[in-house]
Amino acid sequence: MHTEMVATQYKLSDRITNLKESATLMMAAKARELEAQGKKIIKLSLGEPDFDTPEHIKVAAKQAIDDNHTHYTPVSGYLDVRQAICEKFKRDNGLDFTPNQIVISTGAKQSIANVVMCTVNPGDEVILPIPYWVSYAAQIELAEGKLVEVPTSMENDFKLTPEQLEAAITPKTRLFIFSSPCNPTGSVYTKEELKALADVFAKYPDVYIVADEIYEHINFTGKHASMAQFENVRDRVITVNGLSKGFAMTGWRLGYIGAPLPIAKACNKMQGQFTSATCSITQKAAIAALTGDLSPSLAMREEFLRRRGIILDLLKDIPGIEANCPEGAFYVFPDFSYYVGKQRPNGEVINTIDELCFYILEDACVALVMGSAFGDADCMRISYATSEENIRESMRRMKESLAKLA
Ligand code: PMP
Ligand code: GLU
Repeated sequence: MHTEMVATQYKLSDRITNLKESATLMMAAKARELEAQGKKIIKLSLGEPDFDTPEHIKVAAKQAIDDNHTHYTPVSGYLDVRQAICEKFKRDNGLDFTPNQIVISTGAKQSIANVVMCTVNPGDEVILPIPYWVSYAAQIELAEGKLVEVPTSMENDFKLTPEQLEAAITPKTRLFIFSSPCNPTGSVYTKEELKALADVFAKYPDVYIVADEIYEHINFTGKHASMAQFENVRDRVITVNGLSKGFAMTGWRLGYIGAPLPIAKACNKMQGQFTSATCSITQKAAIAALTGDLSPSLAMREEFLRRRGIILDLLKDIPGIEANCPEGAFYVFPDFSYYVGKQRPNGEVINTIDELCFYILEDACVALVMGSAFGDADCMRISYATSEENIRESMRRMKESLAKLA
């Protein structure tokens, strides 16, 4: 007979017990939970395009099924898909890779996890500019690496300066991870800014650089710059990209790296023990995404740009909130610290950004993600990958709820 055991009776590993839950996924789950109770939640929490996958990609996936591409694929992905990725890197980024330097994974999240697991030994230092994407920190902890957090500021558009980078590097530094366009700030590093960082890295040959470029196609400056373009660091840069954001394909699960051969081989070996490879059908559809018509992606970008204007205007209208103008992705990362320390109508003090985030969820029925998940205790991430109507209504409700704090 099956006997009920309470959760504490199960012996789980320290690894999982100590692991933080993904705050982006947690806030999305909380929002769904409240919705199931009948509340009308506006979800600005999860970072995913609200568009459907472009038609020509769906057609390619259906064809892949009919052509019986339904078996295990090579661990790093089908050769023709890796060739298409090499073409993409050349066309869009001016980067030269051979297919054996490409590893396709189950989302860019796994691509990054592979690299972290393959390069970081216990105690090795990994530098992350704050704010950083939630999963970088969790993956470093799983690898028993030591997180070295370097704060940036809104005045500098949340970008790391070469001086800050150099001050953070020690003989134990193994890895540096950043995203541009950035999740959660939307900041975009220019070619000159990246070059200045590359010149610092050039002095420290044992440091590898993970350049997460998954928001490449959602760049309002029109000029995406890759860290791997610089000769003096090229052989140490792992470029990460994927289909989730630029092609509205979050559920398809495909990310990839272009990396120095020894790192690509290591990731292949790691993945061979975890997932074997990502979905065969998704892989075939990726050829259509990567080599086909980019106009649906560009249309999505234009729409995100229009919504950015709307949300920034509405935020200006809320007292105490400060925001900069993000140049990419679909996030704004405003400072809400003005409201921390204030009291709810019931007299309860809001002590932290997390408590403020939950207050907004309960009172305004708007789901955001607390900055603390990204290493920042003052800001909150707002995703505007939603309809104009939702943006307007959520900001109206949020303004009303914040006005009740005294
Ligand atoms: N990197 C960044 C910066 C992200 O925001 C995300 C989130 N979606 C990922 C990587 C992972 O994307 P996916 O696993 O869906 O490819
Ligand atoms: N990357 C997205 C986000 O930051 C999706 C959720 C996740 O993968 O954690 O919201």
